[in-house]
Amino acid sequence: MNFNFTNVTDNLSQYSDVLQNQEPNHQKVVVCDNCGTTLEDFMDSGFVGCAECYKTFAVHARKFAEDMHGRAIHVGKVPKAEATKAMKRRELEKLIVEKDMAVKSEEYLKADEIKKKIEKLREDAR
Ligand SMILES: [Zn+2]
Repeated sequence: MNFNFTNVTDNLSQYSDVLQNQEPNHQKVVVCDNCGTTLEDFMDSGFVGCAECYKTFAVHARKFAEDMHGRAIHVGKVPKAEATKAMKRRELEKLIVEKDMAVKSEEYLKADEIKKKIEKLREDAR
């Protein structure tokens, strides 16, 4: 039998070196199995395609955030001022519903209080 064990293990260790060297490249092509969003898509837009993406990209996203330390990171398409406005609009809608309910249950004092809150919010949101 012409079997050279030393050669085989040498080859194996060379092979595993190659695998290890290729590892970083492989990690760049992370794709969500569920929706097909790539890690690159996610990095570009800051948005994931589905809930599975979070699991798929969680580790890489963390690494990405570390790499981007000190640089602007996309946290969403909505700028802060717009987000605040949107929040106030939601608060406003909630108050309007509350006011209607107060009126319906004939709690006019409460309705009037809420009306004042609504007017103040409307001024703030301008
Ligand atoms: Zn996905």
